Amino acid sequence: MSDRDDRRAETLEAASTGGLSRDRPPQHLVVIGAGIVGAATALEAISAGFRVTILEPGEPGGEQSASYGNGCWLSPMSVIPPAGPGLWKKIPKFLMDPLGPLAIRWSYLPRAAPWLVKYLLAGWTEAKVEAAARALRPLLVGAPALHKALAERAGVGHLIEQRGLIYTYENRGQFESEAMAWRIRRKVGIEWLELDADEMRQREPELDRRYTFGALVEEGGHCRDPGSYVAALVAQAVAEGAELKRAAATGFRIEGGRLRAVTVEGGEVAADKAVICAGAYSRKLAAAAGSPVPLETERGYHAMFPNAEAGPRTPMMPYDGKMSITWTDRGLRCAGQVEIAGLEAAPNWKRAEILRDHLLRSFPNLKPGEVKVWMGHRPSMPDGLPCLGPSAASHDVLLGFGHGHVGLVGGPRSAQALVSMLAERVPPVPVEPFRPSRFA
Ligand SMILES: Cc1cc2nc3c(=O)[nH]c(=O)nc-3n(C[C@H](O)[C@H](O)[C@H](O)COP(=O)(O)OP(=O)(O)OC[C@H]3O[C@@H](n4cnc5c(N)ncnc54)[C@H](O)[C@@H]3O)c2cc1C
Repeated sequence: MSDRDDRRAETLEAASTGGLSRDRPPQHLVVIGAGIVGAATALEAISAGFRVTILEPGEPGGEQSASYGNGCWLSPMSVIPPAGPGLWKKIPKFLMDPLGPLAIRWSYLPRAAPWLVKYLLAGWTEAKVEAAARALRPLLVGAPALHKALAERAGVGHLIEQRGLIYTYENRGQFESEAMAWRIRRKVGIEWLELDADEMRQREPELDRRYTFGALVEEGGHCRDPGSYVAALVAQAVAEGAELKRAAATGFRIEGGRLRAVTVEGGEVAADKAVICAGAYSRKLAAAAGSPVPLETERGYHAMFPNAEAGPRTPMMPYDGKMSITWTDRGLRCAGQVEIAGLEAAPNWKRAEILRDHLLRSFPNLKPGEVKVWMGHRPSMPDGLPCLGPSAASHDVLLGFGHGHVGLVGGPRSAQALVSMLAERVPPVPVEPFRPSRFA
């Protein structure tokens, strides 16, 4: 029996236990969007016995997707939502400094204002931040192992590594200035090792000496090339029977509360179920399914040195740069920055230059050479939690987007949760905090 026959046999087995009957033809699921969330959902759905069509106008895992150029971190400790208590005091600075780590474009402020208000309110108190962390932790815990299994299924297991992740600080005082975040991490079960100056030097000999304190989270992992990884997952889904259609979804034909078809330009794809996984581009589709949600894009950038000759041994995030630094198969990548400027505005490449310059300051042996830059769109909900659940118009259409800063790490478990809901099984994590109607 070939691997593929094995997989088909497993799929039939799953279908018999997953709420889908052997006697009826498999239900047809349309997955809209082939970033990490859509790709993982497609594979999970095949395992559960669905017939799957993936709609994606671009390359799966291509440069148009956030999943292509992100920081590569599989960080189960990324449970702290972006907004915290007192952030409102910094809003004038965010507006005045277009190159700060978080910037809001004046011209976009009127459109972003309602989202910003919800964003500030979501992190108004420590209790709210802790509640978000408690909701996110089950979605992220164990993520490197889940990714490893998915990657191995697609024949690219080497792209997933678990060597820990380090936060670096110039001194312990900087670490203590983030006490609330670390306190909450501790409460939700995250552990870390504290590294003093000597330990830092031994572990990271090329790191600039100004960093004298580190927090190493050993459960963290990383992906060596998220774009290729997502492309491989989609190719695997196709090898296991999914159809990949190069088209953009435009809406839904829903009759009597039941999905009949997903519409695309000039036609439609008949479907029993659909999941919207179009990342930052999901807002209109969600509204078309009766669920207008406050989805915004937090634009981010990366700068990558394809020929770097110095860098970290373990992926790291310097406190003063607020960016991840990770070796990838395409070079040494630093990724970060948050810019609230919408989906249409041209990139401000100065922001990628800031990342590049900070990387050069962090690794003095790194020579300025060829640098590749990229800008992408985090799909961000105000509270830092994704939307995972049924739309208002039909239980056949699920929302599966809004992962903000944690879409890569959170992709596989989100996929499991979505497919459980589609198959009317109990999800593997509590999904109530992710219900799409929470801002209604
Ligand atoms: C700079 C930066 C650094 C980051 N670092 C990390 C990190 O280290 N770890 C982490 O976990 N997360 C990180 N993230 C966040 C993470 O990349 C995203 O949360 C995640 O990639 C979102 O995945 P997605 O599948 O929802 O969306 P995407 O990857 O954006 O994919 C959406 C897909 O939908 C397609 N699409 C759009 N419209 C339609 C339509 N109408 N019909 C069909 N398809 C459509 C798009 O072409 C795209 O391919 C980072 C993000 C950025 C920008």
